[in-house]
Amino acid sequence: MFLKIDHIHDEGLDFKLLESKQHFDLDSTDCVLKEDVSIKGKLEKLGHEIICQGELQTELSVKCSRCLEDFSFPVNAKLKVYFVPQLEDNNLANEIELTEFDIDQEFYVDDKIDLTGPVRDSILLSLPPIKLCREDCAGLCFQCGMNLNKNDCGCEKENACDPRLAVLQQLKNKIK
Ligand SMILES: [Zn+2]
Ligand SMILES: [Zn+2]
Repeated sequence: MFLKIDHIHDEGLDFKLLESKQHFDLDSTDCVLKEDVSIKGKLEKLGHEIICQGELQTELSVKCSRCLEDFSFPVNAKLKVYFVPQLEDNNLANEIELTEFDIDQEFYVDDKIDLTGPVRDSILLSLPPIKLCREDCAGLCFQCGMNLNKNDCGCEKENACDPRLAVLQQLKNKIK
């Protein structure tokens, strides 16, 4: 997903892209891109450096951390990347200076910048560490492993159920 930098004029360049979901190679067992990724933003030149600011939208299919069911997760994420030219003698001074900014730094080669990596990162960072299909997801029964959002299995639940144990229990049942 390349953007030519010589198309960027003094007043900047607005862009709008729709990139296919296959492009991002974002496929793991607990997170899959369901929709193409729509990105819009603005590129601005600061000498040889280029600032890209924008936002992106797409939809992921994500596995619930509690009940292990897949659910749709809409992504609305910000994109802010600072592109610096890749030079033979890349001076460290550049990097040190940039750590003061809370934005990602990428290198570009020749006359084009690639948004693929930053967009992929931004999508992944939009996911919370604990992903829940809904806030009150009942999770799995820690005794029989049944998804309690769908059914009440009827097991005695006198002991407080730790959803993390339920996940283990379900794995154990699968192994049996
Ligand atoms: Zn769930
Ligand atoms: Zn049960």
